[in-house]
Amino acid sequence: MNINEKISTLENIENKSCEVKLFIDIIKDLQDEIENLSNENHLLREYIDTIEEDLREVESVLSVEDDELEIDNFDEEEFIQVSCDSCKESLYIDKEIYESEENFDCPNCGNLITFIKS
Ligand SMILES: [Zn+2]
Repeated sequence: MNINEKISTLENIENKSCEVKLFIDIIKDLQDEIENLSNENHLLREYIDTIEEDLREVESVLSVEDDELEIDNFDEEEFIQVSCDSCKESLYIDKEIYESEENFDCPNCGNLITFIKS
């Protein structure tokens, strides 16, 4: 007997008590809940598949190994953050350039950024 057959057996009881009626109600609610969850699960799976496909596409466009994507490789020690007075863009400048030059052309707007060294 599957669940539905069992429920029908319960439903076919004559002169059902309040308890049995309530029990049938609860089981039906649970069934709906399970169906909703499984639908949601299905949608999520489809969504994940789509994301995975997109990600694979992005990776193939970048054509880099996974470990090269890691931000960890960006060594903050080697760079100094400055912001452009003109376009307000945050720029990371190589420490060597910062230390050896007095100023720097903003790659974003061309504004000459003068390094203020303390
Ligand atoms: Zn700028």
